[in-house]
Amino acid sequence: MSEYYSRKFSLHPLLQVIGTKGFGNREFGFIVWEGEEEKFVRNYSFKTPIDLKEFMIEHGVKAAYVGAMYDPPPTPKTSITKLTWLGRELVFDLDLTDYDDIRTCGKGKDHVCRNCWPLIVDAALVIDETLREDFGFSKITWVFSGRRGLHAWVSDAVTLRFDEEVRDAIASYISPDNPLEETIPLSYQRRIFKIIVKKDFSELMKQDKKIARELWREAIKKLPRIDKKVTMDTVRLLRMPGSIHDATGKLVMIVKDIQSFYPDDAPTVWEILGIERRIFKNCEMR
Ligand SMILES: [Zn+2]
Repeated sequence: MSEYYSRKFSLHPLLQVIGTKGFGNREFGFIVWEGEEEKFVRNYSFKTPIDLKEFMIEHGVKAAYVGAMYDPPPTPKTSITKLTWLGRELVFDLDLTDYDDIRTCGKGKDHVCRNCWPLIVDAALVIDETLREDFGFSKITWVFSGRRGLHAWVSDAVTLRFDEEVRDAIASYISPDNPLEETIPLSYQRRIFKIIVKKDFSELMKQDKKIARELWREAIKKLPRIDKKVTMDTVRLLRMPGSIHDATGKLVMIVKDIQSFYPDDAPTVWEILGIERRIFKNCEMR
């Protein structure tokens, strides 16, 4: 991991989502090695991005996470709970395991395949369009979580100070608890028909209202299933864009085109470094 972080790691994906303003106040967390044991640590902050990178090289971190901003900056000796919270981006977490009940490829849990992945793609497209059109956000970055899902980072300045209640309201609007109720805005229903059903809502309503209603019942199973705890928790750490997922060895990378991306597109740390994975057969990453 030290070799990856010294030779191939770029700070750019991280800085694209968190910017440089307030960098020194930002909390970071890591899985580090303590002898043979791995240990999760948090409450770290760094004066500059270069200092962060040097820490990751020095410790050969197994995983890296990024959290909120605090005053004064967190240190391992001063827990974030005792500091003033300054803000964090609005984030969304999509994971294929949340769709297990409608995955029909028969491959069970803990897998990704080309039949299942479109569930994440459609959910992401709905979230992306809703954030842009209904909320007016523009700094939206999609990041492959490294295994079975995507993270959305909304970095518009206004989102930084959103409290739990606002984050909950936005998540509930995008991922309604009761999608059969008629309180769902018409514009949102149109969007679901366009992206998930792949049919024009107005045309369908003109042709056959009953069929439209049936299609809606089917479509709501595929509405974005956001992990609301992740969105609401303003102190939660999220995997650092540009880092390596400790279980899969895959790059946690920025996804430029949600529609064409597939998890196999993310290179593994072994591919990035040009080394054979089998060399490490006896100490494989779990
Ligand atoms: Zn599948």
